Amino acid sequence: MVSIDEDTCTGCDLCADSCPAELLTFDEEKQKTYVTGDEAECMGCEACIAVCESGAISIIEI
Ligand code: SF4
Ligand code: SF4
Repeated sequence: MVSIDEDTCTGCDLCADSCPAELLTFDEEKQKTYVTGDEAECMGCEACIAVCESGAISIIEI
């Protein structure tokens, strides 16, 4: 599954659209993106990591 570091996320909103499993959601109020989908559905494709210019997203083992 992926983890997003809230302090590092700049709220660019690039990653949510990149996720084929639609696990990521941009929060308009907080201007941050969060993992909101079923983490078990993460394919580990790393598409979200590839588009994140701030390096806020990392893969963590569960
Ligand atoms: S690794 Fe792939 S499936 Fe998992 S959250 Fe990122 S874009 Fe979505
Ligand atoms: S791509 Fe990175 S910086 Fe941009 S919203 Fe997603 S986690 Fe935050």
